[in-house]
Amino acid sequence: MFLENKNSRIQQIHFSEIENRDVSLFIKREDELHPFISGNKYRKLKYNLAEAAKQQKSTLLTFGGAYSNHIAATAAVGFAYNLKTIGIIRGDELAINLIKTLQNNPTLKFASEHNMKLDFVSRAAYRDKTSPEFIAKLQEKFGDFYLVPEGGTNNFALKGCQEILTEEDAKYAIICCAVGTGGTISGIINSLNNQQKAIGFPALKGDFLQNEIKKYILKSDNWSLNIDYHFGGYAKVSEELIIFINKFKSETKIPLDPVYTGKMMFGIVDLIKNDYFEKGTKILAIHTGGLQGIEGMNLLLKKKNLAQIA
Ligand SMILES: *Cc1c(COP(=O)(O)O)cnc(C)c1O
Repeated sequence: MFLENKNSRIQQIHFSEIENRDVSLFIKREDELHPFISGNKYRKLKYNLAEAAKQQKSTLLTFGGAYSNHIAATAAVGFAYNLKTIGIIRGDELAINLIKTLQNNPTLKFASEHNMKLDFVSRAAYRDKTSPEFIAKLQEKFGDFYLVPEGGTNNFALKGCQEILTEEDAKYAIICCAVGTGGTISGIINSLNNQQKAIGFPALKGDFLQNEIKKYILKSDNWSLNIDYHFGGYAKVSEELIIFINKFKSETKIPLDPVYTGKMMFGIVDLIKNDYFEKGTKILAIHTGGLQGIEGMNLLLKKKNLAQIA
């Protein structure tokens, strides 16, 4: 096994906006699992790496957007374990001036410095990335590889995400998690006990996620999605969100990322303020990581003369 079994620490959150409420809020610091392969991407890659080794593959190929946490994590994993990595990146305009692209994009710079081969494709081609024709073309171009889907989500990822919660976490009635492809929350749902419920906070618009999650889960009545906190869509942020992330960090010392965990925590705090949870509820939020994305987001915010993440 490449990535070892790990359990992350849990901290209680003391935050002025939810002081004196009759619920308690905790956070599981999956962001601390590894300095570069952080959060849920560690969980998702763990059994995929084991499977790649079993199949004797020495190259990992995967897909992602230009600021993808999964791209950064896959590059780091390949670098650490001496596997070649290929990243199929959305947006062929990024290839026009690669030096400039890497200067302006800390995620791609990191991936490139960790020896990931970057292959930029048009948005149309990217949409087609799961088709057998597209994958055959990739095999022609790059030879044999182990394919990790976008966001890392497959059945091996599920197995890893089922290890996020442990028996000691049984005391938390509500488990909250940010949602992108739905793989992480599916793993969490599968490891809930009969008294627990999961709430997912999608970081993007669209109602396909409900069905995505249903593909992976074993139970059906112990989870829900709250779709009120996507802030306009994937990687979209508002000044209110940035101010929240900064206030949360200054009071709790816990950094949140703007794409996933910041939106989730904003949602949880808002629900608590609105007395959504029953008195006495113990809530556990999963910090799925994503902190590598802060630098790139700050560059974008700076260009637009907007407040940045502290
Ligand atoms: C990728 C990611 C998610 C989304 O996970 P899914 O399994 O795709 O739903 C959530 N939080 C962070 C920080 C991520 O990087």
